[in-house]
Parts: sequence; C-alpha cells; structure tokens
Amino acid sequence: MRKFIWMFCALILFAMLSGIVEKLATDDIQAISKVPTTHKVVALTIDDGPHSQITPEILAILKEKQVKATFFVLGINVEKSPGILAQEVADGHEIGTHTYSHPSLAKLSPQKVAVEFDKAENAILPFAPKPVVFRPPGGLYNSQILETARERGYSVILWSIDPQDWNCPPKEKVIDEVLSKVKPGSIILLHDGQYPLPTPKALGAIIDGLRERGYTFVTVSELLAYYEVRHSFNPLSPMF
Ligand SMILES: [Zn+2]
Repeated sequence: MRKFIWMFCALILFAMLSGIVEKLATDDIQAISKVPTTHKVVALTIDDGPHSQITPEILAILKEKQVKATFFVLGINVEKSPGILAQEVADGHEIGTHTYSHPSLAKLSPQKVAVEFDKAENAILPFAPKPVVFRPPGGLYNSQILETARERGYSVILWSIDPQDWNCPPKEKVIDEVLSKVKPGSIILLHDGQYPLPTPKALGAIIDGLRERGYTFVTVSELLAYYEVRHSFNPLSPMF
C-alpha cells in the first residue's frame, strides 16, 4: 500500500512538472519585431501581395539593386497572381505567409485560424518552399496564435520600422522614416497589396541610403541567425 502511495505521489509530481514545463514553453514563445545584433544588417519585408501592378515594379528595383527581401504574401492574392509569386522565388526572395485573406486572427475561432493557415499554404506551396516565417495581419495576435504558428513550424515576425506606405504619404516621408529609425537588426515594413503606392519610388532611395550608412540586406530567416542575446531557450526555432 505504501509503495502504491509513493508511486501515486510520483505520478502527481511528474504531471505537475510537465504542466509547468509546458506552460513555460508556451509563455516563452515570442513574436520577433527586431533582432538584437551588433552587425549592420536589416531585413526589408513587403506585405499583402502579390499585386499585378505594384509587385513587378518592386521586383525590378530589388533586382537592379541586388537586394533580397521577404514577401509576406496573402494566399488569396497568390491565387490571382501565381506567376508573380514564382518570380519572387526565382529572384531569390524569401516567401513568408500573411494568412489567406488578411483577417484579424485574434477574433477568429481556432478552427477558422487553422483554415487561414491551410488555405495560405495550399496557395503558396505549388510555387515556393514551405514558408518558415509568419506575419499576423495588422501585427495582431494572442498566445493561441503564437502557439498555432509554432506548431506549424513558423517564427512569428512583426516589424520595428513602419513608414505607413499603405497610407500613401509622400515618398520622402517613407524614405525619411526608414533612414532616421534604422538600427542593426531592424525589420522594415513595406507593402505591395494595392496600387498606387509610394513604395516603388521610395525603395531605391531607401536601399541607397541604408547602404551609405553601412547596412547590408538579408532575408528575415537570415536576419534571425544574427540573434546575439542568449536565452535559456532558442527564440528563433519554432520547435524549441
Ligand atoms: Zn497586411
């Protein structure tokens, strides 16, 4: 009987510890808005495309300047312009997912969130490798979204510089906002989901200005490898 009680207590203790470890792991999942690094590297990220008019203009500038960016695409727009997604891949850019239809995920049921991931992947996967970076629409998320993204093999990526190009300010404002706020490890948010936008006209000057300041451009996945802060867990792996 005493042996049985000891075994029972051990089982309870094991269950409690498992729960604590699981809770710690869940609490530690992070959305990444910038990468702490001393290296002068930055990532250009471009959301909401592909778009039949604006995206080719952006791709032409990136090719001319020999810069690799990360496109957080919408599945619904990939279905409209699959050839442009294929071009992004052919040009060496990274593809991330931004959901299928750009809903506010935190307001959706877990089942509807899963459908957004599934449909986005179904649209992307015929043309690109399985994305490993995910950006929630509007940057809005909760712990459930973080957990779902982790289970599906994604790092959750936000941004540290937002020149609000989607709101169509003068291109000078877009350029100034980026150049005045840049730091090593910055993640810069731009858009290619509507036409017109000041983004193509600003992009060349942004790239030139950052290069003059000594910065080089990497994709988001490459940027994550520059993480220099030590944690008791690896924040870069969605599967830690
Ligand atoms: Zn968006």
